[in-house]
Amino acid sequence: NTAPTAAADMPLLRVEGVSKAFGDFRAVDRLSLDIKAGEFFALLGPSGCGKTTLLRMLAGFETPDEGRILLGGRDIAPVLPHDRPVNMMFQNYALFPHLSVRDNIAFGLKRAGMARAAIDTRVGEMVALVKLEGMEKRRPDQLSGGQKQRVALARSLARRPKVLLLDEPLAALDKKLREGTQLELMELQRRLGMTFIVVTHDQEEAMTMANRIGVMDAGRLEQVATPRDLYEAPASRWVAQFVGDVNLFDGEVTSREGHRLTIATRDGGTIVVAEPRDPAGKTEVSVAIRPEKVKLSRRGPASDAVNAQAINRLEGVVTDVSYLGGSTVYKIKLDSGAALRSSIANTARLDLDTLSAGQRVVAWFTPDDCVVLER
Ligand code: ATP
Repeated sequence: NTAPTAAADMPLLRVEGVSKAFGDFRAVDRLSLDIKAGEFFALLGPSGCGKTTLLRMLAGFETPDEGRILLGGRDIAPVLPHDRPVNMMFQNYALFPHLSVRDNIAFGLKRAGMARAAIDTRVGEMVALVKLEGMEKRRPDQLSGGQKQRVALARSLARRPKVLLLDEPLAALDKKLREGTQLELMELQRRLGMTFIVVTHDQEEAMTMANRIGVMDAGRLEQVATPRDLYEAPASRWVAQFVGDVNLFDGEVTSREGHRLTIATRDGGTIVVAEPRDPAGKTEVSVAIRPEKVKLSRRGPASDAVNAQAINRLEGVVTDVSYLGGSTVYKIKLDSGAALRSSIANTARLDLDTLSAGQRVVAWFTPDDCVVLER
């Protein structure tokens, strides 16, 4: 059925219960996802979780075993890859080594039968867009990694696809160049108003660039959310651990008072959490606390009066101090035996400047600083 479903709020791209198996192995497992026009969407997940397979189905290089992919309300199953308004930029760029920059960019336009004059105009626009003026005659082996990446980008944008799929677009670049190119990609996507779907296993990259992130594991989407929600309200223990650094305490809910839960942790401690999304009825839970929510102070009457109000106070010994420029990370061995990490901005370290390994501290955080997750 290819009849368009005419709804104004229809997403540009809809993936409906799509699966793909290779032999007995399900690389993508009944996955559903909506993507809006103009979004910069990132698919984030560990190696082998099915990200590339999903992209290849969107591009038409793989056929789903079940489910549908709708573009603007139409099932695109019958549409061949080259006829889809979807283009893919490959991880290794897949440039033609014997063709010049110009001819690489013009390739798809020629094949689509565009007139020569129109091709020249379009190639000129693309070269300017990715700032490769003056390099039109060079071959790929005469370009740097960053320049090759731009040629690949220009080539995949030349036919003005509605959706651009980018598979690890920055993986081949060094860290500094990658950061600069992230900003360029974002600027380009905004300027063109296009929909970008980027695959990455680098969470910082996903958070920097994307409006929304889909976290994938074992062929399924664990959570789809904005970078902020993913970090501050992870949907599962797995997501909390995969996205950013986190302290996790497994335990059991021993009492509930409104939105306040008391949790007896496995290491014998107690943590009080404020949880608007109480996993009702569940008693086996994990408490997640980001390291930057954990404050530290030395023992003493003044600091005791302050940190007592935090409700959660855990005592222990500093085992490691790592200075990271903007912040300092302290590793603490709690008296219960559990480990805890605290990250403190270097502008807010106050009396902690001389805190070093072997010294006793009170680590404290409020019930609001915690997130309760089902186990
Ligand atoms: P990476 O980040 O390492 O590229 P990914 O998340 O993109 O990983 P996919 O390339 O989608 O993962 O692969 C998902 C799983 O499917 C992997 O276990 C892979 O080995 C398997 N797979 C992918 N393509 C094929 C194929 N053509 N034949 C057999 N197995 C395949």
